[in-house]
Amino acid sequence: MIKTRFAPSPTGYLHIGGIRTAIFNYAFAKKNNGNFFLRIEDTDLERSTQEAVDKILEGMSWLNLKHDGDVIYQAQNFDRHKAIIAQLLEQGHAYECYASKEELEKMRQDCEMKGIKPKYDGTWRPEEGKKLPPLPKGVTPVIRFKNPVDGNVTWEDQVKGQITVSNEELDDLILQRSDGSPTYNLSVVVDDADIGITHVIRGDDHINNTPRQINIYKACGFDVPLFAHLSMIHGEDGQKLSKRHGASSVTEYRELGFLPEAVNNYLARLGWSHGDAEIFSLDELCQLFSLKSITSSPSQFDIKKLQWLNNHYLKQKTFDEIEALLDPQFMLRFSNRKQLLSIFDLYKDRCHTLREFEANAETVLTKPENISHDLLEKYISENSIKHLQNLSNLFNTSEFTSESIETILKAYVKSEQIKFPEVAMPLRVVLLGTDQSPSIGQIIAIIGKDNFNSRLSEQI
Ligand code: GLU
Repeated sequence: MIKTRFAPSPTGYLHIGGIRTAIFNYAFAKKNNGNFFLRIEDTDLERSTQEAVDKILEGMSWLNLKHDGDVIYQAQNFDRHKAIIAQLLEQGHAYECYASKEELEKMRQDCEMKGIKPKYDGTWRPEEGKKLPPLPKGVTPVIRFKNPVDGNVTWEDQVKGQITVSNEELDDLILQRSDGSPTYNLSVVVDDADIGITHVIRGDDHINNTPRQINIYKACGFDVPLFAHLSMIHGEDGQKLSKRHGASSVTEYRELGFLPEAVNNYLARLGWSHGDAEIFSLDELCQLFSLKSITSSPSQFDIKKLQWLNNHYLKQKTFDEIEALLDPQFMLRFSNRKQLLSIFDLYKDRCHTLREFEANAETVLTKPENISHDLLEKYISENSIKHLQNLSNLFNTSEFTSESIETILKAYVKSEQIKFPEVAMPLRVVLLGTDQSPSIGQIIAIIGKDNFNSRLSEQI
């Protein structure tokens, strides 16, 4: 049975790249009728916060990425990690190291001077026939892994192909700090093995850890899972995606008015493809997903494409669904449901986000203040004021429905032998304070007679 996991550290916000990892793990498990687990890697007690845990849970639930079983908290497995460390010590796969900070710093400097990668020099590593230094007094040792010295570690990465690393390259890494806490590489192996994770799908920033972890799996006598390392997501400048590029946490995208369907769909396609298909629901993704179709090169974040997808999903929603997602403050200010529904119908093709919809609705529903000089100069003249007054008289003697207003507008431009924009643009500027909007006839009907008259007379 396939088992995958998403294993974020709750030390900051939930990065959009992390969520893509979660989506791939989720889809791969579901595609294979397997299990998808969520493990919060909270072993760094100083940097882990409850706030970050909450953000992770909130993000996962917003995106509908349901995990199987309970959320696993890594720190709760300390005892188990320590038991395994004790076992490794006993079996000679690990050893106590009493090197002081100063000695380690000296080793680092020596390596630097020789121009080689910093590496622990093995002073406390027991070997047959080797005499270890006398134990220093009052020092609590760290516990190091006795990494094999010969041979290579090779794995068939499910995304990057075969990878081989020589054991010579690998340090005797610390499994347990002197304060007794287990380190990431040990905990992650023990937890993954205990759950029976079959596929570790994670960012390729962990690729250097994989050979070390494989050696730990072997020393513990655990089955080694398959690994799939996902390439980074870059911003448009080709650099690793970060805060510099704008919103980078899941919560921010929700606040910006993106829909979970769009975020899931967008991230799924970021580094994975199924022919030319662009639109997938989460269920469809789960049916189609395969590790083989993940690209091994970095992908580029394209906000325009996310906006396009968001517009696609916005348009498919009923107004009831949209209403439930709007900002409560906005809903307090604009509570006329009928008007909002008409504005949604009118504007949904051009709104990329919920916030854009709210901004457009606000434009329609509030009297424009300080209309820009450029717009006034471009569209308002004595002639256009004359047209606006004539039209106002005509509208006021008829019903204020979009049909009758549009009929009047058409008849008017015909009788005056002018082009439609010659009246539509001045109307937009005067009523909305902008020259961009969908059908002005429909907008006038939404605004209603009283507002129309007061906005027009005030501006004129
Ligand atoms: N906790 C690690 C991180 O957030 C992930 C560990 C893993 O996937 O193996 O980067």
